[in-house]
Amino acid sequence: MNELPFERAAVIDLAAVRHNVRSLLDRLQPSEPDAQTPRPRLMAVVKADAYGHGAEPVARAALAAGADRLGVAHVREALELRQAGLTAPILAWLHTPDTPFAEAIAADVTLGVSGWDLDAVAGAVRALRDAGDGQARARVHLKLDTGLGRHGCMPADRPAFCARAAELEQAGLVEVDGVFSHLGVADDPERAAETEAQREEFLRGVDDAERALGHGLIRHLANTPATLSRPDTHLDMVRVGLGLYGLSPFEGVPAARFGLRPVMSLRTSLANVKRVPAGQGVSYGFRHRTQAATVLGLVPVGYADGVPRLADDAPLHVAGRSCTVAGRIAMDQFVVDLGPDASEAPGAPVELFGPESGITADAWAAAAGTINYELVTRIGARVPRVHV
Ligand code: PLP
Repeated sequence: MNELPFERAAVIDLAAVRHNVRSLLDRLQPSEPDAQTPRPRLMAVVKADAYGHGAEPVARAALAAGADRLGVAHVREALELRQAGLTAPILAWLHTPDTPFAEAIAADVTLGVSGWDLDAVAGAVRALRDAGDGQARARVHLKLDTGLGRHGCMPADRPAFCARAAELEQAGLVEVDGVFSHLGVADDPERAAETEAQREEFLRGVDDAERALGHGLIRHLANTPATLSRPDTHLDMVRVGLGLYGLSPFEGVPAARFGLRPVMSLRTSLANVKRVPAGQGVSYGFRHRTQAATVLGLVPVGYADGVPRLADDAPLHVAGRSCTVAGRIAMDQFVVDLGPDASEAPGAPVELFGPESGITADAWAAAAGTINYELVTRIGARVPRVHV
């Protein structure tokens, strides 16, 4: 029988998170080999519920292992971490005019700003002051577009943006303590020249910002692939998501090559086992028909749980044996062909991916034509996370 207290679970190995943070930190070396230059810091990116792994426990594990701070996309994600009692610095970088900036400032959430949002943040500080908090001030990091075309201030707009940030800082409304940008192709070693162009544009932007503000800033550019492959992008801090979760950003290169351990295992147990004759249609569309009499096992997870419908030739383990999906993956379940001699019974343990089977989330992602980032992040809310 499955030893889990649930019918299905994403088991999250927090010791692996700690291990991954330590092994990533080991890669970070000071940019200048002198005694004064500190080692780069590590921001643990725990947006999207820590890529489906559970934001609060992952954040605590990452901080305990030496991460300096946390990164999320939305202010609401940062506020949830504050409500859970986390006091480490948190950066949130994706806003709309409806973002609760005043709540973020009151909760000491650092705001990534790249244009209109700088003045919106200053407006929220003024509102807090009008409401009686005379000390209110927002901590911000300036986000620069160096080629990705999403958020971030474009190079042509940089002089005005930096000058406005300096003005608001002098007025005591904001404190600018960082500058950052995001890379677009660091996961593709053949496109190193494009990453280099982004790095150089970023360094020009840092110069502009530091000159306008008259002081130094925390410079951060590297995501997981750059952290693993481009020490020249580490600067003062790296922002690592995928690597924390023990997954590789490089197609065909296993995470183990970088000393990273997978954090999530997706496990359940057989809901049914039955003998069927040759010619039996299996699952919607009868796309699979048994060639001979065999034993079918029913696995109680499906696309509502984030198991992609397209991954119908993905590998998995049933009671430690390799098998593959038979027929279409449905909303709540799919079928495996256990072979004519199978002796498994309902309750036999099933691992879709995880260290016990050695099957990776990458294998499921490849079967579904997607990437490991998406696969783990979309494991559904119906699947309990069990942190061990
Ligand atoms: N920084 C920003 C701005 C991001 O949006 C992300 C994730 O998409 C990351 C860092 C982390 O990237 P990765 O998971 O590749 O480390």
